[in-house]
Amino acid sequence: MTAGRTRWLFASQLGSQFDDGGQIMLIEARSVFARRPMHRAKAHLLLSALRHRARELGERAEFHRVDNYAEVVDGRDDLEVIDPTSWSARRFVRKRGIAVLPSRGFVTNETDFGEWAASRGSSRLLLEDFYRDMRVRTGILMEGSAPAGGSWNYDHDNRQPPPKNAATLGLAPWWPTEDDIDDEVRSDLDQWSSEGSVRLVGEDGPRRFAATETEANQALSDFLDYRLADFGRYEDAMLQGDWTMAHSLLSAPMNLGLLDPREVVDAAEARLRAGEAPLNSVEGFVRQIAGWRDYVWHLYWHLGERYPAQSNYLRATTPLPDAFTSLDPEQITANCLRETIDGMRRHGWAHHIQRLMVLGNWALQHGYDPVALNDWFVDMFVDGTPWVMPANVIGMSQHADGGIVATKPYASGGAYINKMSDYCGSCRFNPKVRLGDDACPFTAGYWAFLDRNESRLARNGRMGQSLAALRQLSDREAVVDQERRRDSW
Ligand SMILES: Cc1cc2nc3c(=O)[nH]c(=O)nc-3n(C[C@H](O)[C@H](O)[C@H](O)COP(=O)(O)OP(=O)(O)OC[C@H]3O[C@@H](n4cnc5c(N)ncnc54)[C@H](O)[C@@H]3O)c2cc1C
Ligand code: SF4
Repeated sequence: MTAGRTRWLFASQLGSQFDDGGQIMLIEARSVFARRPMHRAKAHLLLSALRHRARELGERAEFHRVDNYAEVVDGRDDLEVIDPTSWSARRFVRKRGIAVLPSRGFVTNETDFGEWAASRGSSRLLLEDFYRDMRVRTGILMEGSAPAGGSWNYDHDNRQPPPKNAATLGLAPWWPTEDDIDDEVRSDLDQWSSEGSVRLVGEDGPRRFAATETEANQALSDFLDYRLADFGRYEDAMLQGDWTMAHSLLSAPMNLGLLDPREVVDAAEARLRAGEAPLNSVEGFVRQIAGWRDYVWHLYWHLGERYPAQSNYLRATTPLPDAFTSLDPEQITANCLRETIDGMRRHGWAHHIQRLMVLGNWALQHGYDPVALNDWFVDMFVDGTPWVMPANVIGMSQHADGGIVATKPYASGGAYINKMSDYCGSCRFNPKVRLGDDACPFTAGYWAFLDRNESRLARNGRMGQSLAALRQLSDREAVVDQERRRDSW
């Protein structure tokens, strides 16, 4: 902290890792909530976290509730910031000459990533290479110069389907207790909505995600004690009666800056060393945070601000349907999609495989506009941020960059969903059927997607087998025609 300066902290910088002592400024700007429709649980969490932080800091913090940042910031020359997390916020602070300190909140820093990326020359920036380099540089899960357990990757032990006939994993998480700040937030949101200054979607409450550092640490301990051991094997499993499975629910507190991801990773490694969690789970969890989370953060800057707008390799232009924009499960028959959208409506959250293989897969098959989808994910998820989305949505899930982030599209039919979940048993459609009244829209949609993009995907060696199977389909034309006409899904 530079003497005489006030540190302006953003809503992604609310934990003690961003506080070096000294005077703090927090701004609650209504315009942030008014840009586009936002999930009500997300608006609630952001406001609750900011207001809790202001109360914790007491007289050390100036807390402004205004319409926009410029009202408070313009004309001041005493401010410093820790580099913020979006292109627009970085532009805003630099344009005003505000002192900028290096970013925090990730396991690796931007300089190290820049050096690593430069050292790769023209080679692809693969997650697996970044992840191994990170492990060596940080010593996380290392035994000397070798990876703990002798292998870098335990994916073969993970990705199991859910236990047969189980309605839930029985690993219900700890939940925060709301207080007077949450009551005030709820009534403010009611008022802002009725005035028409914000457009909120979905349900708000009870609050399920940590809004303070104390709550975040409680959520972390609960995960380490009760779910980390099963995290690995059920990482990709889905059960309609269990919306949290063995996941950590820590993305929101980490993205609010309430937890230091390095400390989270170290705490998981300590459970391994104490014999309290298996290596496949701990490695899988470390890979998600120090691997994927850091990797997509660095790619956000590396790929550039125009990466989303310039990426539409599959020429996808379909607008998002009302069932998505209004989070209305009543408009959806497909059980997997209906349950996922319903979970989003209730919580502003879905777990990874629902995001990738249900929502993302569906959007990919139906050619939803990638930028509109990217913005929808930012606005509708409690953990949605501008930096996390481009690599995940534009790159990984929609293949809109033609293969920079993922070597092939994450498209699959109902067989995958059937294997990894219990959704299909009570669905009106049949995952094995591609033609007729019972045809599963994911199964038939998969073939229609391949048909529509055949010529572009033919350039991708990894799609050879799928395209060969498409060409052998006896009813290809009928399936494609059926999906073109489909009005109920
Ligand atoms: C289409 C799509 C959209 C996504 N949107 C978001 C988002 O808005 N915000 C967000 O933080 N993550 C997002 N992710 C990544 C991941 O799905 C979520 O981080 C995770 O589901 C959050 O739940 P959790 O904390 O219980 O995670 P866990 O399953 O417990 O995983 C542990 C942590 O790993 C990190 N992580 C895992 N995978 C990723 C990833 N691909 N990218 C970044 N971090 C990762 C998260 O910080 C997460 O908390 C998205 C992934 C996809 C495919
Ligand atoms: S049958 Fe198809 S639409 Fe229904 S739940 Fe299974 S994958 Fe989803």
